[in-house]
Amino acid sequence: MEYSGTGVGRGIAIGPVAWMSPPMPEPSAAPSLVTAERELERAQDAAAEVARELRRRAGTVDGSGREVLEAQALMLEDPAVDSSVREHLARGVTAERAVFDAFAGYRALLMGMGGYLAERAADLADLSQRVIAVLTHSSPPGVPDPGHPFVLVANDLAPADTATLDLEQVLAVVTLEGGPTSHTAILAREKSLVAIVGADASGLVEGATVIVDAERGRILTDPTAEDVAAATARQEALVAEAAAPITAGRLADGTPMPLLANLGSPDGAAEAVRLGAEGVGLFRTEFLFLDAEAAPTVEAQRDAYERLLAAFPGRKVVVRVLDAGADKPLAFLGGAHEENPALGLRGIRALRRAEPVLRDQLDALAGAAARSSAKVEVMAPMIATVEEADWFAAVARESGLPVAGVMIEVPAAALLARRMLGVVDFASIGTNDLTQYTMAADRLLGGVAELQDPWHPAVLRLVREVGEAGAALGKPVGICGEAAADPLLAVVLVGLGATSLSMSPSALAGVRAQLARVTAAQAREIAAAALDADDAATARRAARAAADAFLG
Ligand code: PEP
Ligand code: MG
Repeated sequence: MEYSGTGVGRGIAIGPVAWMSPPMPEPSAAPSLVTAERELERAQDAAAEVARELRRRAGTVDGSGREVLEAQALMLEDPAVDSSVREHLARGVTAERAVFDAFAGYRALLMGMGGYLAERAADLADLSQRVIAVLTHSSPPGVPDPGHPFVLVANDLAPADTATLDLEQVLAVVTLEGGPTSHTAILAREKSLVAIVGADASGLVEGATVIVDAERGRILTDPTAEDVAAATARQEALVAEAAAPITAGRLADGTPMPLLANLGSPDGAAEAVRLGAEGVGLFRTEFLFLDAEAAPTVEAQRDAYERLLAAFPGRKVVVRVLDAGADKPLAFLGGAHEENPALGLRGIRALRRAEPVLRDQLDALAGAAARSSAKVEVMAPMIATVEEADWFAAVARESGLPVAGVMIEVPAAALLARRMLGVVDFASIGTNDLTQYTMAADRLLGGVAELQDPWHPAVLRLVREVGEAGAALGKPVGICGEAAADPLLAVVLVGLGATSLSMSPSALAGVRAQLARVTAAQAREIAAAALDADDAATARRAARAAADAFLG
């Protein structure tokens, strides 16, 4: 039997299933036998205890794990949560019920907002369960401990659990809910954990051995001896790949192909350097300010950019100006309700309406660049017209940032790539959004995940358009969407004219190894095989067959 879902990364694991303990029953809505004041005291004490425990756990982990736990502790201390609990207690219910109802209300609110915020809903459900567990003196639902390594299967994993998983015991994680941008996926990618999210795997049986293949997004039950042997061989190949000496990205014929990192915070820079990133191809500045109520000051931004640049002396660092909107709303940019936010005032459109915010950001970046030897380039998201590209390049240059480029994420920009590249210094293709807009398939919606595939020949043709424009004008064309992290697709993108690839640092080793096995001419032939297909699955198979023919 085979189950499928969205794989995170390329890992593969074999082991017995252990289900996450089931959620606690809903607290009774019967009236409390004590006063509302006493119940409020109980609720506040329990929330404070959970916040203390989250902070204690935050002190034992680093990176996003720590941030997630600290953010959860802060959520518990939000005065809005306290006043909502008070309102529910006024109905005469118990502390357990009031906490349950207060958090359920917030959860519904976030789910209704969709996108990034909806995916934060799991955080609230987890907090509610933890507080109720303290109130009822029961153990909180959590990661099981069967006493041997296991494949953790959960409906949705709470970020607090993902952040502190014992990686010696947890061989892989499978969740029934969650999309590729859920916290589980983000943390799993960062920890190089084998993971499949949004899997239709409710039939998995406790204790049964399974193979979790993230690269193929597949969970195989009752594996045969051959399945296990093949999976073990893949595991060994991945270990060898990760242990290979780190060299600059290069094709088999010596053609340089710089391999860069996608980062959302300066905190990830050291790890990116350790994994061999030759610079930064995409710094997502909006990730720094998702929680900010007001526009960040020039000074605060300059500090963040200086910290980033310090990790890459003499190297290329491409910073993207704030890409607000859709699944990444920023309180201080845009904000009016839109029916279709992915098609609304996002990216450069929002920045043009808030030009002082853009100018402050460019000033901060120019200030940081002046104090660093990093080669800073700046680019704009969601460019749709040549006029927007021209306007952005002019503003960037006025701000003292001479190298300005555009992201190609909208099909219109890809189709007019020659004109676009005529007015800017480089292009960087954001395959996540380019696929979303080419296929008219929301990148956050599990129901259309099959259409959200950058292997689709329609997407590849647009990439070719940009690659050819770059070659004709002698301007660089980078790739910074998730597509660059898929080793075989990376070869195709190079064959279509990409001159650098940027990806999550954990993907660098796999892409580096694959590129070193093909020449530029072979990459072009592999790309031609993919372009000729009718759909994504056929394109992938055709590229695989062409690559196998070269590599034997
Ligand atoms: C993209 O759209 O491919 C991209 C790199 O930008 P983001 O994922 O941040 O939208
Ligand atoms: Mg994008």
